[in-house]
Amino acid sequence: MSRVRTRFAPSPTGSLHLGNVRTAVLNWLVARHHGGEFVLRIEDTDAARNEPGAEARLLEDLAWLGLHWDEGPYRQSERRAIYDRHAGRLLDEGKAYRCFCAPETLEAERARALEAGRSPRYSGTCRRLDPDDAAARAARGEPHVLRLATPDQGQVVVDDVIRGRVVFDADQIGDFVIVRSDGLPTYNFAVVVDDDAMAITHVIRGAGHLSNTPHQLLVYEALGASPPAFAHAPTVLGPDRKKLSKRTGARAVADLRREGLHPDAVVNYLSLLGWSSPSGDEVLARERLVEEVTLERVNANDVVFDPEKLRWMSARHIDRMSLETLAAATRPWVEASPYRGLLDGAYLEALDAVRSHLSAFGEVVEQLRPFTGPGSPGGGGQGSAEQTAAGAQTFDADARGVLAAVRSALETVDAWEPASLQAALKDGGREAGAKGRDLYVPVRRALTGDEHGPPLTAILRVQGREAVLRGLEEAMGGTGGGAGGEGVAGKGGEAV
Ligand code: GLU
Repeated sequence: MSRVRTRFAPSPTGSLHLGNVRTAVLNWLVARHHGGEFVLRIEDTDAARNEPGAEARLLEDLAWLGLHWDEGPYRQSERRAIYDRHAGRLLDEGKAYRCFCAPETLEAERARALEAGRSPRYSGTCRRLDPDDAAARAARGEPHVLRLATPDQGQVVVDDVIRGRVVFDADQIGDFVIVRSDGLPTYNFAVVVDDDAMAITHVIRGAGHLSNTPHQLLVYEALGASPPAFAHAPTVLGPDRKKLSKRTGARAVADLRREGLHPDAVVNYLSLLGWSSPSGDEVLARERLVEEVTLERVNANDVVFDPEKLRWMSARHIDRMSLETLAAATRPWVEASPYRGLLDGAYLEALDAVRSHLSAFGEVVEQLRPFTGPGSPGGGGQGSAEQTAAGAQTFDADARGVLAAVRSALETVDAWEPASLQAALKDGGREAGAKGRDLYVPVRRALTGDEHGPPLTAILRVQGREAVLRGLEEAMGGTGGGAGGEGVAGKGGEAV
């Protein structure tokens, strides 16, 4: 086989969502698997539907996913001369013809066919025009389109890599438009001219395009070009089993990026929509996906998008990161949060204590609050309801005894290290006659405002000696103690 070349050919009409980026993933993986090339082409001939800025966002999304392209982006809007040349040649060879039929005539024809229970197809009126007369009318400026002269009978066979032989009756197709009255090529024409010119060997796209493929095969034939292999990947359905759309839960790639899902997990998850590893493993690093992917293992059946599974996958990929890499990946979210101060301190330690709870980088923010003490840093953001609760806490005499004993024990700690901190907690407990929950819960509440959270030694380490001693002091300081009392009286404060 010649060098494998695949392409992703999005239209810049909105934001890239999971349904269409799945196509990009498959194309990219297949190209990499064969050591071939992945081409990016922007199908922007429909100016009315193009959205300003969409192309730039699309490139950003692909780059974030690590789906780097080897060529392009080509833009169809810049390739007009190429389409004109090919259309001109088909016209000269009599394989295409000018059609002057008015839209109303065509519409009436269509309606009649539907009424009679026939599938609508162009009647072929203008195919019978004398080409010289047609050229003269065109030269006088009469509006017209170009149609491909297609066979009236026979079959068009799509040999699909995923679906096998799919047979279409030629007489269902009719002479379709290849160049519109504004001179721009239609999708079915431009896509073939481009795939041929760009030496694409595998057209991999959603099953929704299968019905376009016979048209495209006829264009290849007319151009005298040999078609690539076609692979129509299964349709992605929403959790409601309807076609995945914004309404049915299709997430924009940009949203996932904003939340900080692991991009490798997104690629991994999307690759599994219809494909599976021969090993049966699901969590696969990019290198393994590249190594193992084959179109032959892609299933034709519709697949259902499962947002929970995507998050689970992201958590698994986050598990596999080194602490340093995860710190770098989460940093932008922390920087934009009230907890940015932690980055100058023991951030790695805090992160290590909470990383098992993360399914997205952005989630680190809500996990960090316990490390900065109750009621601080001020207001807003995640967890502010609990901060309010912290401000409203009270400690009974026993709990205050525990806090005092633990505080004295901690005061004598030389090296603020996990082992000595653990020992000091125990000493304090022994002194106050408390262990287990009776020991840890008051300390935890005093320092974080919450009964649950990351390991206490991690909290002590990250908050640091000064803040811890002050926090315990303030908590003991009478009823309603807590620190700060920031925040407004809240809903559902957990006065325990
Ligand atoms: N621009 C088309 C789309 O976004 C490309 C289809 C194809 O891959 O041929 O659906």
